[in-house]
Amino acid sequence: MSSLNTSLNGKVAVVTGAASGIGKEIARTLAAQGAAVAIADLNLAGAQAVAEEIRAEGGKALGIAMDVTNEDAVNRGIDEVAAQLGSVDILVSNAGIQIVNPIESYSFSDWKKMQAIHVDGAFLTTKAALKHMYQGDRGGIVIYMGSVHSHEASPLKSAYVAAKHALLGLSRVLAKEGAAHNVRSHVVCPGFVRTPLVDKQIPEQAKELGITEQEVIKRVMLGQTVDGVFTTVEDVAQTVLFLCTFPSAALTGQSFIVSHGWCMQ
Ligand code: NAD
Repeated sequence: MSSLNTSLNGKVAVVTGAASGIGKEIARTLAAQGAAVAIADLNLAGAQAVAEEIRAEGGKALGIAMDVTNEDAVNRGIDEVAAQLGSVDILVSNAGIQIVNPIESYSFSDWKKMQAIHVDGAFLTTKAALKHMYQGDRGGIVIYMGSVHSHEASPLKSAYVAAKHALLGLSRVLAKEGAAHNVRSHVVCPGFVRTPLVDKQIPEQAKELGITEQEVIKRVMLGQTVDGVFTTVEDVAQTVLFLCTFPSAALTGQSFIVSHGWCMQ
């Protein structure tokens, strides 16, 4: 790890769902810039493995167990991070799942699970982090992992699209309430990224839509991009880093779409 990377020196970041995929790369990227990073995930072994990887590269990291849908677990986890690492300056609310099904056969329990992880999880982690960020108006930044589906709809994804749209509302309210306490907030909205979450849905979408897996990738996932290329975990992590290091509240309450031009607004 280069000693020149110091833009987040002294900052403490919590990244939820960071045992895998996009969250893992965000944790690695923030740590590489000097932040002490808490990897908070349902999967404790995975979180600890990522923390170990970061520490082996010379960074500061802590793996903690956290189910973002459980208020006590969230409050305990965030307080533990503040106690062990000193504060909470950055929250990346990233934990998520995908369940695809048409509305008429979408089970209510799956609908509620989706809202619980994406929306309740975002609310609970925000509330717990604000307790620390509002102390003495020390401030901070909250980044929600949205999606192109915060702006667009796709068949089979009613619960996910509703949940990802909801994050825009939460983020905009936080931008207004948090300003007096030096807290900023944003939603980062990736196009399709090859992570376990996406790999799982390729065969599921092929089955539901009656097309091949190659067609799911070419038409459904990349058909509306400008170049037919997947967004990468690095693309998303660099966007988060940019927002975390931006120096003023000139940027707050925004949505940043990282999608090879799939969605332009
Ligand atoms: P992933 O499956 O690789 O990682 C998700 C992580 O979240 C896992 O480590 C999982 O254990 C964790 N998690 C799930 N439920 C949890 C809970 N209740 N509490 C704590 N942790 C929990 O998925 P990913 O693709 O890296 O997705 C990360 C985020 O990015 C999600 O919010 C997803 O909706 C969003 N996103 C993904 C894509 C994509 O194409 N992969 C595109 C846009 C947005």
